[in-house]
Amino acid sequence: PVKTAAGTKGGIERTFIAIKPDGVQRGLVAEVINRFERKGYKLVGIKAIVPSKELAEEHYGDLKARPFYKGLVNYMTSGRAPVIAMVWEGPDVIRQGRRIIGATNPLDAEPGSIRGDYTISVGRNAIHGSDSFESATIEIGLWFKPTEVFDWKFTHEEWIISAN
Ligand code: GDP
Ligand code: MG
Repeated sequence: PVKTAAGTKGGIERTFIAIKPDGVQRGLVAEVINRFERKGYKLVGIKAIVPSKELAEEHYGDLKARPFYKGLVNYMTSGRAPVIAMVWEGPDVIRQGRRIIGATNPLDAEPGSIRGDYTISVGRNAIHGSDSFESATIEIGLWFKPTEVFDWKFTHEEWIISAN
């Protein structure tokens, strides 16, 4: 569970990160996991899933009025590759995850970010990350059952996260 308030720097949070079908097709699964892992974040949930239309529509519900919405839902649900759905945990992981991923439009994404390094089209930007504490909570609940998310500690946690 989230142990501190949203937006609190250093607060232990959880965020929903998903490698979209194009990211899986592009062979970016290990690369994405590595970027979160090497930073010190903890993988507390992971699965491959072809989302139902209902799940994809709910996940992107705030974009329903947008012209690309239907194409977006089709792209996520085609099954031509699964989505790799993940929950990552750690200090400020929601905001830091968005920085690791980069801007929505890959042409605005900084080199060094995942989208900046690997993608060029907003409709094929490889990865999703929750944009706030509220959406992280909703999205984790949408994509994962409680039993699919795990509480665990690094044996070396004190070498990654200081107590003060
Ligand atoms: P994100 O939070 O950075 O993923 O961006 P948004 O929440 O604004 O949009 C969700 C997803 O919709 C993006 O990651 C893109 O895959 C897609 N999307 C957003 N804007 C556009 C657009 O203008 N054209 C197309 N084709 N897809 C878009
Ligand atoms: Mg978004």
